Amino acid sequence: MEDCIFCKIIEGQIPCNKVYEDEEILAFHDINPATPIHILVIPKKHITSLAHLSKEDEPIVGKIYGVINKIAQEQGFKQDGYRVIVNCGKNGGQEVMHLHFHILAGKQLGEKIV
Ligand code: AMP
Ligand code: ZN
Repeated sequence: MEDCIFCKIIEGQIPCNKVYEDEEILAFHDINPATPIHILVIPKKHITSLAHLSKEDEPIVGKIYGVINKIAQEQGFKQDGYRVIVNCGKNGGQEVMHLHFHILAGKQLGEKIV
């Protein structure tokens, strides 16, 4: 997808600090971390947002959660816990229009909305 910053990261046109990669999924450190550990997990297929997820793409969401747990184990924050956030669309505050899962970890998170 042209003009998608995350597609450019997947294609290697923009560098990233990679945490995990397989055929379908890429994870890298957020460039502007909100917490001591802030990792983004994305499907390599361009899916604009959670609202754009088709039936055939649904299995990737389960795989991404599996990868999130693997990363939590490998990076050493599984025991202490973490938060996973998906911003979707305008009201959800989504800025990059390529589906991504934020993993926030490394400190006690305060601001609970739910
Ligand atoms: P969202 O507001 O949910 O769309 O989140 C987009 C996230 O992407 C933000 O936390 C940004 O800091 C992050 N981001 C934007 N550009 C890059 C980049 N080139 N490398 C890593 N993270 C990025
Ligand atoms: Zn994209």
